[in-house]
Amino acid sequence: MPRLIDSATREALAERLRFYRDLGLTDFYHKDVEPVASGDVAGEAAIAPATEVVARTAAEIPAQGPNHFGEEPAIKTRKVFQAPEIGAVVPAEQRAAALQAIRDEIGDCTRCGLHKGRNKLVFGDGAPTARLMFVGEGPGADEDAQGLPFVGRAGQLLNNMIAAMGLKREECYIANVVKCRPPGNRAPEPDEANTCTPFLFRQIDVLRPQVLVALGATAATYLLGARQPLAGLRGRVHAFRGTSLIVTYHPAFLLRDPRQKKEAWADLQIAMKELGLKVPKRG
Ligand code: SF4
Repeated sequence: MPRLIDSATREALAERLRFYRDLGLTDFYHKDVEPVASGDVAGEAAIAPATEVVARTAAEIPAQGPNHFGEEPAIKTRKVFQAPEIGAVVPAEQRAAALQAIRDEIGDCTRCGLHKGRNKLVFGDGAPTARLMFVGEGPGADEDAQGLPFVGRAGQLLNNMIAAMGLKREECYIANVVKCRPPGNRAPEPDEANTCTPFLFRQIDVLRPQVLVALGATAATYLLGARQPLAGLRGRVHAFRGTSLIVTYHPAFLLRDPRQKKEAWADLQIAMKELGLKVPKRG
């Protein structure tokens, strides 16, 4: 007898199929490799010491050639800061505790003005041994209410993007540039982002994912340390703190302009190749 599914599950499945159709996918993914913990170097340093927050001075992104699509980017960079020094490698079994130590240090944070409108601080969510990490801009209303990243409509789309890659959300780790909701969903101001991102860099250093995906221009700016057009950053692999960084559109932007989903999918395929995942065929 066929199993009945409830209407919410049916709608979620329909939404996922619409997303695949938007990507032009006719074939579903296959995993060639089993997910394994990345950066798991036995015997290396224990829990990373607190990364010192250094003065943020100028940083330059090196000159880059054509991207994966053969396009020469018109790079115009504006320096925003220099990232803190990279922390020590944390063994896989100590990563959950190391993340908790960062969360404890953040506490009931009032380090920047964003705390004033916050309901719940959104630290991050996912597997401490994730091979794939996503970084967005900041919490929205749903995230602020629940204390979890990407749980609203944009989160549903991100879940579909992850599923299209052949992965589960629980296998990944998701965080934002700022951990408290900017009023009216505006982009974080530089002083807010620069106050909060040292914690994000420490999370990245603990997780040391194999691939990091920056969702949108704000994430790309505050990870790479320079402001430049998204077009010049997409379609290539950036070496970043011992991981491969890939830049793509923010899911909220894709909700506003679904025509760009195929572009985002092209970026995610680069991430899949970096992860050793087989890219499904397109129709
Ligand atoms: Fe603290 Fe970050 Fe929240 Fe600002 S955004 S109050 S620095 S946790």
